[in-house]
Amino acid sequence: MKLENGTYQTKAGSTVEISGEHGGISHVSFDWVEEPNACIDCRVDPYPHHWGKDEDGNDEWRLYWECDRCGGGSSRLERVPQVVHEGQMRIGDLTIRVHHLDDGRRIIPTEDFEAFLAWLENGPGISPEDARMLGMLLRQTGEG
Ligand SMILES: [Zn+2]
Repeated sequence: MKLENGTYQTKAGSTVEISGEHGGISHVSFDWVEEPNACIDCRVDPYPHHWGKDEDGNDEWRLYWECDRCGGGSSRLERVPQVVHEGQMRIGDLTIRVHHLDDGRRIIPTEDFEAFLAWLENGPGISPEDARMLGMLLRQTGEG
């Protein structure tokens, strides 16, 4: 069993990129400082291990590291959603980017959201039509 091509991340921020025609290329960026149960002597296994199914029935993959000094450890990998389309949305005189992710979510980049908040605070205010569009957008971007 192999991991699908894509980018994966542990809770502490180490990343694994799986690529190649047959998913055989693995590029690991291991954060020795941030990972719990890790020290600078730890040796990372370059390919994630299939751990089994989680309680929701999803395949669980883990990054493993071994160590003679600290005993090593592992951490669950979560797939990092990829941007498949970058759209734009106009609200009054403001344009913000909306990223469509491959898991179906739509997100607003942080700097665009901050620009939107500044615009709300300092701008001309929003029309009822803008408010309606904004409500639609926020419902689409919400998780779940
Ligand atoms: Zn160690």
